[in-house]
Amino acid sequence: MGARLAACLRLVMLSIALPAFAGGATTPTEYRTTLYLFGTLMEITLVGVPAERAEQVTDRLEREFQRMHRDWHAWKLGELSALNARLPSGEWIPISPFVAPLIAHSRPLSRLSNGLFNPAIGALVELWGFHSDELPVGKAPPADAIRRLVAAAPGMDDLELADGRVRAGNPAVQLDFGAFAKGYALDLARETLASLGVGNALLNSGGDLCALGSAADGPWRIGIRHPFQDSLLATLEIDAAECVMTSGNYERYREDQGVRWGHIIDPRTGYPAAEVASSTVVHAQGGLADAAATALAVAGPSEWLNIAARLAVDQVMLVDAAGTVRVSERLAPRLTFPAGSQPPVLVALPPSDTPPQP
Ligand code: ADP
Ligand code: MG
Repeated sequence: MGARLAACLRLVMLSIALPAFAGGATTPTEYRTTLYLFGTLMEITLVGVPAERAEQVTDRLEREFQRMHRDWHAWKLGELSALNARLPSGEWIPISPFVAPLIAHSRPLSRLSNGLFNPAIGALVELWGFHSDELPVGKAPPADAIRRLVAAAPGMDDLELADGRVRAGNPAVQLDFGAFAKGYALDLARETLASLGVGNALLNSGGDLCALGSAADGPWRIGIRHPFQDSLLATLEIDAAECVMTSGNYERYREDQGVRWGHIIDPRTGYPAAEVASSTVVHAQGGLADAAATALAVAGPSEWLNIAARLAVDQVMLVDAAGTVRVSERLAPRLTFPAGSQPPVLVALPPSDTPPQP
C-alpha cells in the first residue's frame, strides 16, 4: 500500500465532536480515524485526546504502521523480502533492529505451538498462491512440490541471530510473518500510545484488535466476526490492555471449482488447515494472541486445547468447519451470543506445564 493511496483512503471522522453529558458527569471525547493499513481498514479510537493532538498521534501511528507494512512484508519490496531473497545462500545477512524482533519474538511461540505456527514456511504460502494481493484461483499446487517443501522442514530454529546479523542453516527457510505481524504491530502501537500519554484507545484492524484502558462510557464493547455469516458470532467487553485476535480461512482462500483452500497452512502436511472455520484468542499480548489463533486453526478440534495449554492462552474459542462453537471455560462467561444462536460447547483446558506468558 503506497503512502499516497493510503492517504487518499484516509477518512478522518471525529465521532463525538463535543463532550457528552451523562448523569451530570462529562464523558471524554472519542476521536476516531480509519486508515487503510495491512491490506484492511484499521479503526483507531482515542479517548479524551483533543482533536488536534489526536491527529498528531494518529499521524505518528500511521507512519509507524506504514514502515511495518513495508519492512515486514514477506514478498513486497522492503527489508524482509530482501532478506528472504538472500536467506537460501546460508550466508550471514545484516538485519535491522526493526525486523530482528519479529524473529526473536516469534521463535519461542513457534516452538511452544509444536511448529503449527511456523513463520518459516513462506515458500509453502507462496506455492499456494497467497503471496499476491489477488486471491489465487485454480487447482492446488502439484503434490510433489508440496511434499518437497514439507520434507525440507524449514523452521524458526534453523535461523541464527547474532550481532545484527542472521543466517539460515536450512535453504528452505522463507519468512512470512502474516500470522504474527498484525498482533505484534498492535503491541508496538500501544507502546507508542502509552509513551505519548494516551491511556485509553482501541486499535481495530479488520476485527483483530487491541485495547488500552476503556471507552468514553465504560468498557470497550467489541464484536467477534462470524466465519460463515455477515454478522457477529459473539460480543465481549474489554476493560483493560487486552487483545482479541481471530484467524480464519473464510476471507483469504484459493478457489478451485467450488473447493476452497484457505490461507492457513498445516506445516506438517503442506495443505491448508481444513477442519477449522475460525479461531479466536483473547490475551494481553497481541503478537502471542495472533500466533496462537493461527496455531489453534492448524491444530483443529482434536488438538487445539493441548496447543492452547502449551502456549498458556486460556481464553480461546474455535468454530469448526461444521459450525460447532467451542469456548474455553475462562472465556465463555465473558461472551454474549446473539439470541437464538446455538449454545457453544464449553471446554476445559488441560493443565499446562508452560509458565504463563507475561
Ligand atoms: P488471518 O488473521 O488473516 O485469518 P492469520 O493470522 O492466521 O490470518 O495469518 C495467516 C497468514 O499467515 C497466511 O496468509 C500466511 O501468510 C501465514 N501462514 C499461513 N499458515 C501459517 C502457519 N502455519 N504458521 C505461520 N504462518 C502461517
Ligand atoms: Mg494469526
